[in-house]
Amino acid sequence: MMIGAEHETRSGETLDVLTPSTGEVIARVPAGDATDVDLAVARAKEAFATWSRVPAAQRAKLINRLADLVDERLPELFELETSNNGRPIVETRAQLSMAGGIYRYNAALALTERGETFDAGPQHHGYLQRSPLGVCGVIVPFNHPFLIMARGVAPALAAGNTVVVKPSELTPLTALRFARLAAEAGIPDGVVNVVTGLGPAVGAPLTRHPDVKKIEFTGGAGTGRQVAVAAAERFVSYSAELGGKTPVLVFDDAGVEEAARGCAFAAFIAAGQTCVCGSRILVQESMYDAFVSALVEQTGAIGIGDPADRATQMGPLISAAARDRSAAYTAIARDEGATILTGGAPPRLDAPFDRGFFFAPTIVGNATNGMRCAQEEIFGPVIVVATFRDEADAIRQANDIPFGLGAAIWTRDVARAHRVAGRIEAGMVWVNDHHRTAPAMPWGGVKDPGFGKQSGREAYDSFTTVKAVVVRTAPDPVDWYGSDPHD
Ligand code: NAD
Repeated sequence: MMIGAEHETRSGETLDVLTPSTGEVIARVPAGDATDVDLAVARAKEAFATWSRVPAAQRAKLINRLADLVDERLPELFELETSNNGRPIVETRAQLSMAGGIYRYNAALALTERGETFDAGPQHHGYLQRSPLGVCGVIVPFNHPFLIMARGVAPALAAGNTVVVKPSELTPLTALRFARLAAEAGIPDGVVNVVTGLGPAVGAPLTRHPDVKKIEFTGGAGTGRQVAVAAAERFVSYSAELGGKTPVLVFDDAGVEEAARGCAFAAFIAAGQTCVCGSRILVQESMYDAFVSALVEQTGAIGIGDPADRATQMGPLISAAARDRSAAYTAIARDEGATILTGGAPPRLDAPFDRGFFFAPTIVGNATNGMRCAQEEIFGPVIVVATFRDEADAIRQANDIPFGLGAAIWTRDVARAHRVAGRIEAGMVWVNDHHRTAPAMPWGGVKDPGFGKQSGREAYDSFTTVKAVVVRTAPDPVDWYGSDPHD
């Protein structure tokens, strides 16, 4: 556990942290428990009393300084994140370079916060006061540790809250480094706390703690449901960003090569371990053969191996269990009658990467939307391709799933792009691209992908509560029923 400065857990127990590219232990971190959560929450509560009263201009200055420090230390953060979660260094560089902007955007929101005023009648003035909530728990998954942490921590701090971060037990290293940067930036002790450990030992007590006023959770649907129940029992707010099975609609007016290139990027970055990974491609019947052959060719050219090598495009999965899950879904797809067009097994790699948790990028063809491989989140480099007849059929199949996080449309028909974007049940839609977002744009889905939004003004507002204030401006004494319209 780290609370501003480094502390050991009460128990002294530790957890091994592996690098998934070789399976070696690269660090040991404290295995926190409920006692450590209590301690972190108590510190965060104490710090809230002063941090929540720091003027917005000063809070923004400190957060901007933190953003500058993050940018300055990017090279070491790139290396740490890549060695811990196995994502290729080129990908980590692109992603972590966005984190500073998330802190700056939220600092700017703190500076420009405005309150609405209301017509409360001729003798009264109504307005809103916005206040922070208190101690907020930020629970982070393994796949984008630094970025997702930023999406929770930045709005929370900017709005005047203090945080207890619970990183994934698989990828805690950049969160620990971040806590040190926050202290270096001059953020007061106790405002940013990180408790490492297992989900049931640290995450669960954090969600149940009576002094935690909001939980920002990103992770799997099963865990998200437990978080939602814990928050509901205490009537505190939460947001849950969960899984997906993003449909990618490829219409026959799209350029075949361009769409195939976009689909490979959509599917295989982070070895398919992103919540909006383009894992369910629906392609118009008339171009199925041409598209699939271009996609298989492009997928065959993906460089797999050492994540630290700048030429690598795809690294390992996070764990042996995740790799085995991809293998199991490949077998399920085969049993369901689909065809494995490429991949389907771990790639052959030289030592030491032959011990890593790699799985080749895998395309399942001749699938139908009802198959398990097309309906369930695999969270690995295994994607399915099915066909549709026309636009109505494409929309029907895209929406025929419990998920509604992201969606993508490949077409050169601009009217169709807007029309289909409007009818797809998803929180985010890309047209002729995938994955792109900006700190000011809300992120989050509909249906099973969860509840609430990360990023944008929506996220900032979700870390505040509004108070309606009504001020009597009349010079006369209080009049009990003076405004009775029936007089
Ligand atoms: P996970 O649910 O296993 O773990 C997420 C976090 O919750 C970890 O820190 C874990 O330790 C903690 N946790 C585990 N049990 C807990 C409990 N009982 N109470 C509180 N916290 C607990 O998820 P994961 O495997 O790390 O991440 C993969 C999942 O995250 C995928 O389903 C993916 O789609 C989803 N995800 C969603 C988004 C999004 O923005 N919608 C982004 C990234 C990942």
